[in-house]
Amino acid sequence: MEKINALSIDLEEWFHSELLEGQRPPIFQAPEATQQVLDLLDRYQTKGTFFIVGEVAERHPELVRAIFERGHEIGCHGFSHQPLWRLNEDSLREELRRFHSVMEGILEKVVIKGFRAPCFSLDNRTKWALRVLVDFGHQYDASIFPVKLNPLYGVSGAPMQPYRISLKDVRKEDRSSPLMEFPTPPLTLWKFKIPIAGGFYLRIFPLSFLHWGLKRINRKQPFLFYFHPWEGYEGTPRLKLSFTNRLISYYGIHSALKKLEFLLNHFKFARVDQILGLR
Ligand SMILES: [Zn+2]
Repeated sequence: MEKINALSIDLEEWFHSELLEGQRPPIFQAPEATQQVLDLLDRYQTKGTFFIVGEVAERHPELVRAIFERGHEIGCHGFSHQPLWRLNEDSLREELRRFHSVMEGILEKVVIKGFRAPCFSLDNRTKWALRVLVDFGHQYDASIFPVKLNPLYGVSGAPMQPYRISLKDVRKEDRSSPLMEFPTPPLTLWKFKIPIAGGFYLRIFPLSFLHWGLKRINRKQPFLFYFHPWEGYEGTPRLKLSFTNRLISYYGIHSALKKLEFLLNHFKFARVDQILGLR
């Protein structure tokens, strides 16, 4: 049977990326960039999960309402997009308190089940965050990237399939844990693990390879796909950056939405909470 995959959109401003070397010109374009994604999802009658940055919601409450009214799940992507490695337990509590208070102001009784850490920054150095998520009523996390490719993020040895995550070791399953984890599985080829399910990997790999690789993941399990609205928006400001950061930030922006459309045509997607059976 065809697998149903999880679709996640990290709703942040283009300047929330960690790679912009501290530059942050005050240009706001999340509504325009997100509108394109919302229209595309409507055309394919697909619902997904929007992990939203609190300060973006605060500035654009009408955008949050539009996402909610179209039937997408609202999740949390922090308040100010600080990676967990820059926070501690107290400051994460403050981030979540502000996020939830903004969301309650916009949507009243919405239940926020899911959390995605900025920059996939959950690993065993930041596992203290899991207890905070539980205290704020979150039912799942979607921040584990089970491949360690760079010093910033990745947890090698973490499960590839959704699991109940141990609060003591993020790589371990604990059936009594109050929190589910939906990791972003890579393509496993022989002994290599290649991330392909979203973001920069969507932009850099050719469609034929993405199609083949994602089908291959689907032989065993659903994948969790992620995308940022700024990645598919021509108006995203192009800053002067080092060669590598320019490549990772801007490569393939012009074709990203077309690629996403191709995937919507060839794979089935749903909200993360739906696939985890949380509705
Ligand atoms: Zn983010």
